[in-house]
Amino acid sequence: MNKTIKQLHIELTEKKITVRELVNNSISKIKENSDINATLGFYSDNFINEQIKKAEEMFADGKAGALTGIPIVLKDNILVKGERAGAASKILENYISPYDATVVTKLKEQGAVLIARANMDEFGMGASTENSAYGVTKNPHDKTRVAGGSSGGSAAVVAYGGVPVSFGSDTGGSIRQPSSLCGVVGIKATYGAVSRHGLMAMGSSLDTIGAVTNSVADARDVFNIISGEDKMDATTIRDESRKSKVESRKKIGVPRKFIDMEGVDSEVLKNFNDSIEKFKNDGYEVIDIDVKNIEIALSVYYVIVCAEISSNMARYDGIRFGLSVADKDINQSYFKTRTEGLGDEVRRRVLLGTYVLSSGYYDAYYNKANIVREQLKKEFKKVFELVDVIALPTSPFPAFKIGEKANDPLAMYLADIFTVPVNVVGVPAISIPSGKNSEGLPLGLQLIADHECEETLFTYGEVFEGL
Ligand code: GLN
Repeated sequence: MNKTIKQLHIELTEKKITVRELVNNSISKIKENSDINATLGFYSDNFINEQIKKAEEMFADGKAGALTGIPIVLKDNILVKGERAGAASKILENYISPYDATVVTKLKEQGAVLIARANMDEFGMGASTENSAYGVTKNPHDKTRVAGGSSGGSAAVVAYGGVPVSFGSDTGGSIRQPSSLCGVVGIKATYGAVSRHGLMAMGSSLDTIGAVTNSVADARDVFNIISGEDKMDATTIRDESRKSKVESRKKIGVPRKFIDMEGVDSEVLKNFNDSIEKFKNDGYEVIDIDVKNIEIALSVYYVIVCAEISSNMARYDGIRFGLSVADKDINQSYFKTRTEGLGDEVRRRVLLGTYVLSSGYYDAYYNKANIVREQLKKEFKKVFELVDVIALPTSPFPAFKIGEKANDPLAMYLADIFTVPVNVVGVPAISIPSGKNSEGLPLGLQLIADHECEETLFTYGEVFEGL
C-alpha cells in the first residue's frame, strides 16, 4: 500500500524521515518507473532545494501543516513561476511560466515540495494520454494498457507510489477517469471552488483543478487547502457565500436506465452493483432516479468544449509565446506554426468548435447545447432534493489497451459518458477505488453531490472506504 499524506506527515513530524530523504525517495521512485512515462521532467534543482529548505524550517519552527515537506507532481498545464510548463504540446516546447498559478501559491505557502511535471493529453484533450506529444503514459497495473486521461501522468505517478498526491485538471472527467483506471482517489471540485488562475485554459466554463490521492481523507485535506475565492479568477465562489454543506440523509440515487445502457462492461456493472449493495447493507437507502436527458450530456459537452477550445487555442499564434515558424506572409506563419505545433485531436476540436460557433450553425448547435445545459442543471437540482449523492461507475470500462481507441475519436469520447454530466452542470464528484476486475485491473465508484457539497462526498467516500 502506498503511504498517504497523513502517514508521511506523522513520519516527518516524528523525525522518522527528513524532508530531503522523502523528496529523494520520490525522485528515485520516479526515475525507476521512467518506462511508465508519467512525468515529463523534474523542476530545477535550485527550486526543489529551496522548497526543501523552507519545509525543513517550517518543521523546525513548529509551523508545519498537512502538506509541509510533501513531494508533489503537477499536471503540465499548471504554471510554476520560472519553471517549464507545456500542456504536453509541441507548441509550448520551451515555454517558461511567468507566474505562479493560485494553487501553486497556496502549495508554496504550505511548504509543499513541487518536484515534477505530469504527462497528459495535449492541452487536456483526450481520455488516454495517447494525445501527449511526448508519448503515452502506461498503466502501472498493466503496462500494455493506458493510464486514462487526460491527467494520466498525475494518476499513474500516485498509483506507483512516486508521490502521495498530484494535481490535475478535470474538464470532462480528466481527474476521475484516470484515477479510476489506476486505482487511486480523484476529486473534481465544484466549478469555481478552486481558482483556475494559472491553469492553461481548455473549456473555461468547465475547467477545474483537483487532486489525485491515496485516500479520501487526503483528498479532503488537499481540497480544503487549495479551495477559496481568488480575485484573479472572477468565477471563484465568494468566501462569504460558501456553504460547504454536509447532507447526511443516508440516501443515494442511482440513475439505473443510464447505467444499464449498451456498451458498459459487464464486470464494471457487477462491481458497481456490489458497491451499492455494500451501502445498502450499511443502512443506506438507495433509490432509482431518473435524470432527464443525462445521456445527451455527452453531446452537449462536446459542442460546448469544442466551442470554448477553438476560442482558447487562438492565443497560440506563434507570436506571443511558444513555437514560432517564420514566414514572410503572416497568415502562412500562423498556419505553419499551428500545423507543426498542434496535434491531431487539438486541431480536430478547433475545427469542430469553429464550426459550431459559425453563423448559421450557432443557433443549431452552440445555443441549443447551452439550453440543454440549463435544463440539466435544473434536473440535477431536483434530484438533490431527494438524495445526498448520485452514484455512477466512473468509467464504463477498465483501462483499455494502448492503441485500442486511438484512431477512433467517437469511441474515445464514450469513455467520458459517466463523467461529463458533472462538468456540464458544475457540481463536485469523487472517484474512489472499488476493487478490481478478473484481470486485476482497478475499477472506480463515482459519487456526485450538489454544488459546494464536497464535504458530503468526503463523508460518503470515507464510509465507502471502510465497507
Ligand atoms: N476526455 C475528455 C475530453 O477529451 C475530458 C478531458 C478533460 O477533462 N480535460 O474532453
